[in-house]
Amino acid sequence: MNSIEQNLERIRKSLPKEITLVAVSKTKPVSDLMAAYNAGQRIFGENKIQEMTQKWEKMPKDISWHMIGHVQTNKVKYMAPYVDTIHAVDSLKLLKEINKQAAKHNRVIKCLLQLKIAKEESKFGLHEVDALDILNSEEVSTFKNVDITGFMGMATFTEDQKQIESEFKKIHLFYKFQKSKNTLLKTLSIGMSGDYKLAIKNGSTMVRIGSSIFGIRNYSY
Ligand SMILES: *Cc1c(COP(=O)(O)O)cnc(C)c1O
Repeated sequence: MNSIEQNLERIRKSLPKEITLVAVSKTKPVSDLMAAYNAGQRIFGENKIQEMTQKWEKMPKDISWHMIGHVQTNKVKYMAPYVDTIHAVDSLKLLKEINKQAAKHNRVIKCLLQLKIAKEESKFGLHEVDALDILNSEEVSTFKNVDITGFMGMATFTEDQKQIESEFKKIHLFYKFQKSKNTLLKTLSIGMSGDYKLAIKNGSTMVRIGSSIFGIRNYSY
């Protein structure tokens, strides 16, 4: 067994089976992704559209590709033919473009609204009220080619577990309340290599794990 296989096995064992694992393969070569694929992994997350598209072209077609990075509206068209889920939707304008491009391919693209939960100013994401404006807008209800299936969040980059946990609890509370009113909502995408166990304890349904599977990245985004 290679180390990617071993890492995957170890992580899978630690995940309750209802939790979806997105293997975050950004910056890693196709050979690494194929090692994970051959160990049974079928969901991969990337944060650059061009890089994801190159990998999609080279890899087996039964993979679900998740875009986890910030998306520029003018690049949506490149992933519209194949992307399964877009995690970081943060505006009505972007959602509208995803709907338009998905329609051209007769597809429905799943979208998560990214909520701002971290303390740092630099993080992308919506405030709860703005997420609700999008979720409940009349215009969005006419979009046939996107499904808003949940929310995504990134905790503050800190060693302070209490801080991270309070951010996860807050987004989980919001998710739970909205889910009680909207049956399409079924995904809460929180948790990365360093904090996924805490995220699962606090209601995550989908974790995005990169370095614990593929090793540290040579450059980071
Ligand atoms: C890179 C990245 C991850 C994975 O990070 P690791 O710490 O390597 O597990 C998860 N989510 C997003 C949005 C990322 O950009």
